[in-house]
Amino acid sequence: MTAIWHPFTQHALMPEQVFIDRAEGAYLYDGSGRRIIDAISSWWVNIHGHNHPKIVAAVQQQAARLDQIIFAGFTHEPAERLAAKLIALAQSAHMANLTRVFYSDSGSTSVEVALKMALGYWTHKGHPRKGIVALDHAYHGDTFGTMSVGGRSVFNAPYEPMLFDVHRLPFPEGRGQKTLDAFEDLLKTRGDDIAALIVEPLVLGAAGMLMYDAAILKGLHELCRRYGVFFIADEVMTGWGRTGTRFACEQANISPDILCLSKGLTGGFLPLAVTLASEEIYDAFYSTDRSRTFFHSSSFTGNPMACAAANAALDLWQEEPVAERIRAVHDHQATLLPRLAARDDVVNVRHLGTIAAFDVRSTDQGYLSAVAPKLYRYFLQQGVLLRPLGETIYMLPPYCVTNEDLDEIVATIERALDALRDGRLE
Ligand code: PMP
Repeated sequence: MTAIWHPFTQHALMPEQVFIDRAEGAYLYDGSGRRIIDAISSWWVNIHGHNHPKIVAAVQQQAARLDQIIFAGFTHEPAERLAAKLIALAQSAHMANLTRVFYSDSGSTSVEVALKMALGYWTHKGHPRKGIVALDHAYHGDTFGTMSVGGRSVFNAPYEPMLFDVHRLPFPEGRGQKTLDAFEDLLKTRGDDIAALIVEPLVLGAAGMLMYDAAILKGLHELCRRYGVFFIADEVMTGWGRTGTRFACEQANISPDILCLSKGLTGGFLPLAVTLASEEIYDAFYSTDRSRTFFHSSSFTGNPMACAAANAALDLWQEEPVAERIRAVHDHQATLLPRLAARDDVVNVRHLGTIAAFDVRSTDQGYLSAVAPKLYRYFLQQGVLLRPLGETIYMLPPYCVTNEDLDEIVATIERALDALRDGRLE
């Protein structure tokens, strides 16, 4: 018996949690030493694998020197070094307009900060705007602001009356013309009150790894430019190589006005997020008038150990063949997916970067689909951590995963689908 209330966990149906004792690379080990392949990078964070020795060493060294310091009025070397690196990275990704780095602690807070920056900008400019535009089914976090911009779903139904309204665009199907037209119509009629568009570029993660074309992303960005509306890219999940390029926006050759990053920023080692912003946005808050300060903080903003982990995780991109690993994971997944696609019980196979996903053909659809917990339990019994989103099964492994691991993951999925088809899954 434990007092812990776990996230996204129905304790009445899942009284026992798996006790993890240690982790290394792509593997987790439970209390009895049993190995589990982490096929979803522990909620999409652990890009270089668990307990990478260089990140461990960097955090150990930092812990012995400076643990934590208030970040208002104070700064420190790991935060300065990281900010400089992030700006240089943005430049190399043709996002030279991103010149300011705001630290926070999670993906949700990075999005809250982005929304507050965009809305605050318009207020400080003397033309307050209330409108935020978002995609249907989007997921941006579980705080009230991020739930509001997220799609309405079972995740936020009890709080729905408390969420603020946003303008919603249909999820882009095909060439996305309906989405682009809806956005342009909105901008034509209500453009003066629209502060920003927020999107998960190329892949809507929690919605079920729904993918759309880079040309559509580019089209949305062009409309933002044409009508003078900020473009916020939530790359909390897609950032750090997940879609094949360092940032998903690179595939559309666009630069957002605000960029949200977290998860893989520290290699998934410690919680940290950044919201990068343009000079124009920063300038709207820059004033001798203290009431125009950007009033957002959390106690652990810019934590030195988290910044040290991020610096080490970013250095790994130079010190190790990370880009080659991403390509290798993608290429091996590509050899395996046709096997799944050939099955009658598999539909909508999709693949971008190292994200491979498909839907189980089922009449029971949506996040609460009964197939998800059955499959989840089976996968775990077989030593693979996969967490289906409703009837969607996806792989999103750390980049250090081997071909043999990927073979095992797919073989496990095949056995699970056979068992499901034959009514053998509890
Ligand atoms: N945005 C996106 C696109 C995400 O996928 C997530 C988390 N899955 C978040 C924001 C929220 O991040 P966090 O859970 O770190 O608050």
